[in-house]
Amino acid sequence: MKQHFEQRVLVTGGAGFLGSHLCDRLVAMGHDVICVDNFFTGSKSNVAHLLGKPNFELIRHDVTFPLYVEVDQIFNLACPASPIHYQHDPVQTTKTSVHGAINMLGLAKRLRATIFQASTSEVYGDPSVHPQVEGYWGNVNPIGPRSCYDEGKRCAETLFFDYHRQHGLNIKVGRIFNTYGPRMHPNDGRVVSTFIVQALRGEPITVNGDGSQTRSFCYVSDLIEAFVRYMDLPEMFPGPINLGNPVEFTIRELAEEVIKLTGSRSKIISSPIPTDDPKQRRPDISLARARLGWQPTVQLAEGLKKTVEYFDATLSR
Ligand code: NAD
Ligand code: UDP
Repeated sequence: MKQHFEQRVLVTGGAGFLGSHLCDRLVAMGHDVICVDNFFTGSKSNVAHLLGKPNFELIRHDVTFPLYVEVDQIFNLACPASPIHYQHDPVQTTKTSVHGAINMLGLAKRLRATIFQASTSEVYGDPSVHPQVEGYWGNVNPIGPRSCYDEGKRCAETLFFDYHRQHGLNIKVGRIFNTYGPRMHPNDGRVVSTFIVQALRGEPITVNGDGSQTRSFCYVSDLIEAFVRYMDLPEMFPGPINLGNPVEFTIRELAEEVIKLTGSRSKIISSPIPTDDPKQRRPDISLARARLGWQPTVQLAEGLKKTVEYFDATLSR
């Protein structure tokens, strides 16, 4: 017997890293899934294994243009997430976040659908409150190279809350902290994939600055569990809610862990620290614990091991 009532679910950005894992989970739950993607950073290969399933459909579409489908739930994930990718065409990044949100919110309003927004810890910028709680308004540079992403996501949150207040829409805003796992793009410059690929190739591990900046890394299966629990909450709860792993590491510690796990001979070298690189990041997940009964269960070493296995298999193909 299925545990969940089957829904028609739209996943934008569904062929990306997180989106493809979410599609896997929703298809397995028996939902009717429509995956929409323009393949800017995602790829068909991430969802190729789902294409033959009767409850899965893939549509090439750019969310900056209106979309007409009939669904009960929307997960809005479309947006490049790595600094290299979102800074490649910053105007398009802001358009994707803002026009994409307007289009998906318009769709949700017409259908009276519940809509989840993949927001980000970047709304806190380079935070002066640590760990970050949802009530903190952030420290974001509005005109720097990261602003297209940070301000785009902040504006999307504004739109979500205005649709909620103005139109009574059932919104769910999740602020996702650094998440990693299989199907990350090997060249997207995000720290976990970059370090693993460098270690497997025996290349130097590029630690930016002195490596004392911190991040808190969540394994993808833990995050997808939180998405599903949040969407399935019966009561209206707009959030925002932090979703991430509260265990904090320095970037140098991450590099050392990757070297240990891969047995690589790679040496750690220092690279220039990018502009506005946040110095510290760790979610306070009290709200997620209380409202979703959720907390991550996968330790960094365990998640890294699975991710190393994935990249090892992909790179040797
Ligand atoms: P990703 O780059 O793998 O996935 C994004 C997907 O969106 C890709 O498949 C891409 O092709 C698609 N896309 C981009 N622009 C689009 C457009 N205009 N129309 C349709 N599709 C478009 O990144 P990800 O890590 O899977 O991130 C998914 C979402 O989660 C993003 O919104 C991101 O901001 C958010 N997020 C991710 C993390 C993380 O650590 N992975 C952290 C915070 C927030
Ligand atoms: N980083 C690094 N070497 C790299 C890539 C990233 O030291 O080759 C650092 C980066 O400067 C940042 C942290 O790792 O301090 C996380 O970077 P990422 O791009 O993964 O995510 P974000 O900065 O958006 O959290």
